Amino acid sequence: MGARTTRYAPDSAEAGRSRVWCSGLCMTGPDYRGTLLTFLLALAIFSAEVAVSFPFLLTNHSIVAVPLLVLLAVSFAVTVWSAYLCSTTDPGIVPRSATLPPSIIAFPNVRERSVIYRGRQIILRFCDTCRVWRPPRSSHCATCNNCVRRFDHHCPWLGNDIGLRNYRSYFTFVVFATLSAAVAITTSVLTVHWTTAHFRAEYPTESYAASIRRSLGFKATSVNLVIILLCFLALLFTGGLTGFHLYLMSNNITTAERFKKRARNSAHPHDDYRGLRAIFFLQCTRRPASALTEGFIGPAYPEEDEYLRLIDAQVEEEKALLDVPVPSIPIAPPRVVSLPVSRI
Ligand SMILES: [Zn+2]
Ligand SMILES: [Zn+2]
Repeated sequence: MGARTTRYAPDSAEAGRSRVWCSGLCMTGPDYRGTLLTFLLALAIFSAEVAVSFPFLLTNHSIVAVPLLVLLAVSFAVTVWSAYLCSTTDPGIVPRSATLPPSIIAFPNVRERSVIYRGRQIILRFCDTCRVWRPPRSSHCATCNNCVRRFDHHCPWLGNDIGLRNYRSYFTFVVFATLSAAVAITTSVLTVHWTTAHFRAEYPTESYAASIRRSLGFKATSVNLVIILLCFLALLFTGGLTGFHLYLMSNNITTAERFKKRARNSAHPHDDYRGLRAIFFLQCTRRPASALTEGFIGPAYPEEDEYLRLIDAQVEEEKALLDVPVPSIPIAPPRVVSLPVSRI
């Protein structure tokens, strides 16, 4: 295995629109400002929840409040950490080439080739922008202007592509964001309910509607209602994504393959996994090294070198066929037909 460092080469994403930060410590997509907004919104909701609900809950209902606070803090911390990892990690960018490969120079119009590798048919398409034969299941992201391995989609909320190397942190993010939203909704609903109950106890002769009005006049209740609304929207979105990605993983397909109805170009036996085995493989196996790190000595994907060798061999065969001299067909000399000269 080649030497690996955790730093990205400063110019590794130069040709695309991805950006390398902090002397190569992290890498983001071009729309990193959207990511900062996502983080700020999440932090604002969490801070409001802790500041508004928990002083009341911890004082009056500590048996419920303490587990809720621990659960919210842990799920929020995992959400933020996985979002940070997902948005600052190389998703699996295929390094660009400065020159055209010999196979394209020899046959410029052939942009798709099929090779047989270990009994499987692998279809490779050439990317004119990156000047590389795109590995199976890769796609060129129009936003980042890079080819990405096992490309799933470009996420504007996290400002990065979701691909082979950050899919795991992406799924962790959607699962824990769903959990955080569910805990925040539970906390806010309980706070509103117990605040109303508190006014009911304080003014027992008043109607229930009057207690609710008193509760709504309470500033903490208004904030909690806003939290419930925002977290409900987040819950619908991230909960839907969690279910959708469980479906994708169990069928071993990507979002791009699902929506573009592009046939999955199976390169590996593990692309045939289904169900729990596929989910385990995608979530629990080791993440491949980034080809963009400083001092990287590849290949990270040995089979990709083999595809290129197979393409070169194919091209050599085709060139050899073209070089075979075409047998010349002997041309018979024109027969001279002597017409009888008419005599007048
Ligand atoms: Zn992208
Ligand atoms: Zn490309």
